[in-house]
Amino acid sequence: AIEEREDAPEDLKPRAPIVTVMGHVDHGKTSLLDYIREENVIAGESGGITQHIGAYAVSLDGGQKITFLDTPGHEAFTAMRARGAQVTDIAIIVIAADDDIMPQTREAISHAQAAGVPIVFAINKVDKPTANPEKIKEGLANMNLLVEDWGGKIQSQDISAKTGQGVNELLEKVLLEAEMLDLKANPDKLASGTVVEAFLDKGRGYVSTVLVQGGTLKIGDYVLAGTCSGKVKAMQDERGKIVREAGPSSPISILGLDGAPQAGDKFNVLEDEKEAKQIAAKRSQLLREQSVRTQRH
Ligand code: GDP
Repeated sequence: AIEEREDAPEDLKPRAPIVTVMGHVDHGKTSLLDYIREENVIAGESGGITQHIGAYAVSLDGGQKITFLDTPGHEAFTAMRARGAQVTDIAIIVIAADDDIMPQTREAISHAQAAGVPIVFAINKVDKPTANPEKIKEGLANMNLLVEDWGGKIQSQDISAKTGQGVNELLEKVLLEAEMLDLKANPDKLASGTVVEAFLDKGRGYVSTVLVQGGTLKIGDYVLAGTCSGKVKAMQDERGKIVREAGPSSPISILGLDGAPQAGDKFNVLEDEKEAKQIAAKRSQLLREQSVRTQRH
């Protein structure tokens, strides 16, 4: 069966925060994710991030790590939440300082609030002569969101995703927020987590990127993910490196599933291959029956 026991406090180890970047279209979400991806190379590793696998982890100078979901926008966030997945610890909400607080900014704020996820504001494009970060902070204050400069508790950082100004400070603030959350997980059990994306690759078969949230995923494990199952044949990180195991907060792409699960599907490792297959088959059958029923109505 799927093991979902409570972890004993002494088994919990610190884990990296998982961060989603949200905000209005064209305010700079993709630029920020690209900048962070390109600037950060894991200490001691030669290669930069070479593959888009839907999530990536960066190491900061102090050795701390942050995992970013690399699918900007709250569509991915809400799609995952709709499937019951809670994968975000902290939301960075990007607001362009040469624009106003726009409808999608408000939406992103309310999504984060509804999920109980703390927000760090990134007031972007401050390199532009027309940028007016104070106007944005005033706008936030009018929404009852007081940032630190305005005497409040919410963190915000003026940045330029183009020049990189303020981005390190932004990441420091994310880490500070993470410290307050005291994020922990038990690495010493069968892995579980959430599917970030999956696709069929000509040559490699089904490739699924998962975010490990508890336990450690290993080569040879039997995985059940949504209506799919299979034995992990190979694992690769966002640097294209072959890895043998992946612990909590690690994004990892895996080969060996018999299909492409949906983003937001939970995954579990089971002791028994047959059981994984049976549960996956039962779920597929239930889905088929449901769709037949909805077609009749
Ligand atoms: P997204 O829709 O939120 O992902 O926004 P993008 O990252 O695609 O950025 C939208 C546009 O704004 C692009 O043309 C970017 O080059 C530009 N842009 C993003 N960040 C900055 C910035 O900090 N400064 C300037 N000058 N332009 C930026």
